[in-house]
Amino acid sequence: MLKQQYQLYINGGYTAGSTGEYFETYNPATGEVLAQVAKASREDVDRAVAAAREAFDRGKWPRLTAARRARVLNKIAEIMRARFADLVRLEVLNSGKTVDAAKGQIGQAIEDFEFYAAAAVTEGGRVNQVPNGFFNYTVKEPVGVCAQIIPWNYPLMMAAWKIAPALAAGCTVVLKPASHTPITAYVLAEICTEAGVPEGVINVITGSGSEIGPYLTEHPGVDKVAFTGETETGKDIMARASRTLKRVTLELGGKSPNIVFDDCDLEAAVDGSLYGIFYNTGQSCEARSRLFVHRAIYDRFMEQFVEKAKRIQVGDPFREGVHMGAVISAEHERVIDSYVQLALDEGATLLCGGKRPEGPEFAKGHWYLPTILANVHNKMRVAQEEIFGPVVVVIPFAEEQEVIQMANDTIYGLGSAIWTKDHGRANRVAAAIRAGIVMINSPISAFPGTPFGGYKQSGFGRELSLETMQLYTETKSVVSYI
Ligand code: NAD
Repeated sequence: MLKQQYQLYINGGYTAGSTGEYFETYNPATGEVLAQVAKASREDVDRAVAAAREAFDRGKWPRLTAARRARVLNKIAEIMRARFADLVRLEVLNSGKTVDAAKGQIGQAIEDFEFYAAAAVTEGGRVNQVPNGFFNYTVKEPVGVCAQIIPWNYPLMMAAWKIAPALAAGCTVVLKPASHTPITAYVLAEICTEAGVPEGVINVITGSGSEIGPYLTEHPGVDKVAFTGETETGKDIMARASRTLKRVTLELGGKSPNIVFDDCDLEAAVDGSLYGIFYNTGQSCEARSRLFVHRAIYDRFMEQFVEKAKRIQVGDPFREGVHMGAVISAEHERVIDSYVQLALDEGATLLCGGKRPEGPEFAKGHWYLPTILANVHNKMRVAQEEIFGPVVVVIPFAEEQEVIQMANDTIYGLGSAIWTKDHGRANRVAAAIRAGIVMINSPISAFPGTPFGGYKQSGFGRELSLETMQLYTETKSVVSYI
């Protein structure tokens, strides 16, 4: 249920911020104010970190058996399932994404808790071979207090990607959701408490990222920073965290290539490429925003691709049959449009979209039509910089080596997709691409268990997988002389 006011969630319950200041959170599809949200000060950050520190240093959570923690994670999943419809509604209201998208993401968030419940009990230390007379074993211990900072594009799913492995490992958390989309993170904190997570283990604070973010990432009480967001913010966080040598994982931006070879299943490639860029209104870190199409099928592919893009229904995210919801804010709509204008100034050709949709439904809120730009070359800014909206650039190619070179010619290395029926080629190209994720004839990149993360300036560390457990634990080696 939507509340009118969200206070900070510290030490197992809601608490007013020290300054009494609030900011408004909106529905991006209507521009209406949804709720007042507490604006944390540095003092509040101190309180949240102190609660997490106390829960870690003296509380029972890190000292429970993995099986007991797993039981609580499964209980969180159970409560989320029971509150599924409400969570979906709140997510759609606060993010402008469609009901289908919210259902898929929250469904996955639930499974993430179940996945990490299993991981908690299977991932552990081991006994190592050492010279006679000695005995050595390793223990996986929780890394400590984790500051987790997340973006607005997948609010609840990103919170689950962060909180679930931290809980499984026995860590404690101060989570800072994005100011645009704080609501479901607060609900998740309530659910954690209801499921039996002890007080102080999960704390949620909200406020300006540029004000409290740096303070949180430098905080001496924090052992690890796990960040998802823009590459430039990630660089700032890494620099600040380095001063106290905090553990850092960074899930950053992307400009992912989508390569369509001439021997592909054309219909699957067209549909998968549409999904790859326009899902979540293009506001996906692994959005396949650079589309490379083999010259031999370019005309046929583009005819279907543009035709189907024009038929994508944009509108009220609650309405059935709508494929694409709102963009997150007026400012973001302007950024998306400015990239399109820049591309046109640089000589690109607009094949569809390039503006807000028209009609009474779009009188309020923030919108952008599915947009396809051709006559683009890979060095143009629109092909190199992350737009984070429903805009794809299309570049033809003739040779496998040529397209590999273009695909890798980016500072990013998050996602990538290949469409071909030739398995040899698929595996060759998958091996040659410098990216953390390669999709072969698949529009989908992530399930609980698949490592998710980037190469190059898309960051480092992996989420959503057993690898993640390593990033929330320290390895202690115990050597004894028998
Ligand atoms: P952002 O970097 O502006 O903000 C992300 C979070 O960081 C927010 O909570 C914000 O308040 C906070 N923040 C802002 N400045 C900060 C600072 N100096 N110190 C600490 N925290 C600070 O990103 P965004 O616009 O919210 O999200 C979009 C970006 O997220 C895109 O670049 C997208 O690719 C990326 N993203 C990456 C992944 C991934 O897994 N690689 C997933 C989703 C989104």
